[in-house]
Amino acid sequence: MRLRNAAFLSALLVLCLFQAALAAGPARNVIVLIADGTGAEQYTLARWYKGAPLAQDAILTGMVRTFIADSVVADSAPAATAFATGVRSSDKFISVGPKAKVLNGQPVPPEALRYRPLATVLEGARLQGRATGIVATSRVSHATPAAYLAHVPSRAMETEIMEQAVYQGVDVVLGGGRGYLTPKDAGGSRKDGRDLLPVLRQRGYELPTKADELAAAKGPKIFGLFAKSHMAADLDRAAIAAGEPGLEDMTAKAIAVLSKNPKGFFLMVEGSQIDWADHANDPAHLISDLMAFDRSVQTALDFAKKRKDTLVVVVSDHNTGGMSIGNASTSGTYSQMSLEALLEPLRKMHVSGETLWKGLGKEPTPEKVQRAVLEGWGMEISPEEARKVIAVAAARKEDPYYALGEVLCPEHTQLGWTTHGHTGGDVPLFAFGPGSPKGLITGPDLGQATARALGIDLAALNRRLFVDAVEAFPGQTSFAGGVLRIEHKGKLAELPANENILRLDGREIRLEGLVVHAPDTGKTYIPAQAVQKIKGRAKK
Ligand SMILES: [Zn+2]
Repeated sequence: MRLRNAAFLSALLVLCLFQAALAAGPARNVIVLIADGTGAEQYTLARWYKGAPLAQDAILTGMVRTFIADSVVADSAPAATAFATGVRSSDKFISVGPKAKVLNGQPVPPEALRYRPLATVLEGARLQGRATGIVATSRVSHATPAAYLAHVPSRAMETEIMEQAVYQGVDVVLGGGRGYLTPKDAGGSRKDGRDLLPVLRQRGYELPTKADELAAAKGPKIFGLFAKSHMAADLDRAAIAAGEPGLEDMTAKAIAVLSKNPKGFFLMVEGSQIDWADHANDPAHLISDLMAFDRSVQTALDFAKKRKDTLVVVVSDHNTGGMSIGNASTSGTYSQMSLEALLEPLRKMHVSGETLWKGLGKEPTPEKVQRAVLEGWGMEISPEEARKVIAVAAARKEDPYYALGEVLCPEHTQLGWTTHGHTGGDVPLFAFGPGSPKGLITGPDLGQATARALGIDLAALNRRLFVDAVEAFPGQTSFAGGVLRIEHKGKLAELPANENILRLDGREIRLEGLVVHAPDTGKTYIPAQAVQKIKGRAKK
């Protein structure tokens, strides 16, 4: 008996040491699923529509406050930055530190933090030897996925974001945005004339562009972009983009590939277009993309529930549209609202407002609008309503199709919308597994919790990945043409921004992190590893 105990204890000790070598955190794997632009009421609508609990209903653990450094209402970029880095940042910022201007009563960020790249949970997981992945239905260079992949002071810098994504060393990237891999004159979207496809091939990525190619991909490295820009709305995919995989297909593939890594994995999945449907006040697009998100959450939970080592977090970055069940036309009748009254109008909608509007051509007439709305949305609208749709659409410079939901939802559905923008309320938090965050927390709290779950010390990670080059090499640096040059003891080192490359003595060294230039401060940040290589080699 004593012998058996001793054997058991030594086995336990070996197991513990093995675990400790992997990570100090309680979770081997972390999957964060972000329903962009989803408040509690959108979930309520989706639950009624589904006629059953949502995949995450049983794991509700709290609420998340969504404000950012300089606004009560969040933009996706700083909201996702908080999830990715554990730091509250400024409007439009992608995983760089906030500017000085903050909300009244909030602490002013220290000078050294401003515009500084902030290490992400994904980067931490990668340096631990874990597999990493990003899945989205937007361009993967769009705000939310970008916050896990890149460090730039504006979400609009998608040329730079995609470059950093390519050099980041993520194992699996699935979504839209293929245009940002190739230059404009070759039919792509890049402004810098670069072609990143050879870089991806050189780094051993499979490059599927269709659902069947994704299904056949073996991994471990897949950069699968299935649309030049954003992927199709889930509601429209069968009709206009049948070759694209759905969010749940990409989620399942990512988990299957990443979970082969014995050290575990980090995966972020975004239901990107829930937000856009809310912006458009488009209920059918909203429900369809929320259902796809629900199936993706189920896929993640099915994986996690078979094991005890996987943290699944389901969260939103903010509410969009301020959708309500009940609107101005239900002011006197709300307490007799039947499920049929709520759901029947929505079940007749078979196309997104955007695709419906595109089908009208350049000069929509009231008759055309009436016919298209009857066919696509199942609504019989009057000529006056059709004229109003056209007038509202014409008054909008961008996104004319927003007129459809804005004009038609109040009279033809039971749903209300308060804005085409975002709103500032708390959003529901769901979590399952070791290290689950609970209670009323903030976006940065969530980022810290996922880092803790994986045993990532974010402060140490920031010191390891982002050293101010001027501080490390005073008087020896210059930055021009997108390249940092360091002249140290007679040797020249070159580090192109947005890449993980150090050129030294005619050699090209792949670094463990990105070189990031902050245009607002003129500072360039390089991995501590680069500092050691340059100083070490110069000594010889
Ligand atoms: Zn949005």
